[in-house]
Amino acid sequence: MSVIWPIFSDFILLRILVNIRKIGNSHKGGTMVIRLIIFGGLLVLFVLWESFFPRRQQGTLLKNRICNLSLSLINSLIVFILPINIAVLAMNAGNRGFLYSLSLPFPVHLILSLLLLDMVIYFQHLMFHSVPLLWQLHKVHHADRTLNATSAVRFHPVEIFISLGIKVSAVLLIGVPASGVILFEIILNGCSLFNHSCIQIPLGADRVLRFFLVTPDMHRIHHSVRLRETNRNFGFCLTWWDFIFGTYRQNPVQDQKSFLLGLSGYTNGEDRSILKSLLMPFDGKAKSYSIKGMGKQGA
Ligand SMILES: [Zn+2]
Ligand SMILES: [Zn+2]
Repeated sequence: MSVIWPIFSDFILLRILVNIRKIGNSHKGGTMVIRLIIFGGLLVLFVLWESFFPRRQQGTLLKNRICNLSLSLINSLIVFILPINIAVLAMNAGNRGFLYSLSLPFPVHLILSLLLLDMVIYFQHLMFHSVPLLWQLHKVHHADRTLNATSAVRFHPVEIFISLGIKVSAVLLIGVPASGVILFEIILNGCSLFNHSCIQIPLGADRVLRFFLVTPDMHRIHHSVRLRETNRNFGFCLTWWDFIFGTYRQNPVQDQKSFLLGLSGYTNGEDRSILKSLLMPFDGKAKSYSIKGMGKQGA
């Protein structure tokens, strides 16, 4: 598996870079097909990896995976139906936005775009834990008690809709080029699949990767049932934002292989039912899990 991964990722990246201009100019369907192929390839890779080399005992995941992928399908259809294509919006913005005003060389402009977008996603995630109403949406993602690759796409449709609005605003304000939008979406999806999967990675490699990349052991802490662990490690791609803004946690209180995942109060198959997942934001439960609740409860 470790041999296949670099070859696979290089091949995908090469194809993206060669076709980047074409992708940016293509219609929405074409862009989505390419993203879907990359997403599908990575999903199969991580599902195989966590099946053959799991970090934790997983049990039966079929119903959970079907539920998570069904939510993803609903979200993808909504995004596809909406008349919004962020890459096309970026292309039609007429070189406006903060980074364009600096007249930087294109590679520097592109890299800064990716960095700033990743920082925005960090703050967006922090916001979904801080604002009680938004937490009621985001808790659907946290109700998964068997964290695995498909958990990466387990989000309530309303959260996806709000996230889309934030991304559009960020792209236009920062001045992200169309190629940056597409690259970022692919990197974000890839990182999210990676850090939600239950894959075994050598501990030394995990330590080195954590200098810049959110690893599965790091993100798993964010999915702990313990309040003070849930409100840590908000990053999705780079670890730097958690380091800089003081939200990094290296280890869970209990062992990585056995600590409890999910939310207390949601042990009734919510992570295996599409209907229960869609209705979760309206039950008003698990309010204390938002960052506001941290002052009221102990670790
Ligand atoms: Zn979260
Ligand atoms: Zn997560």
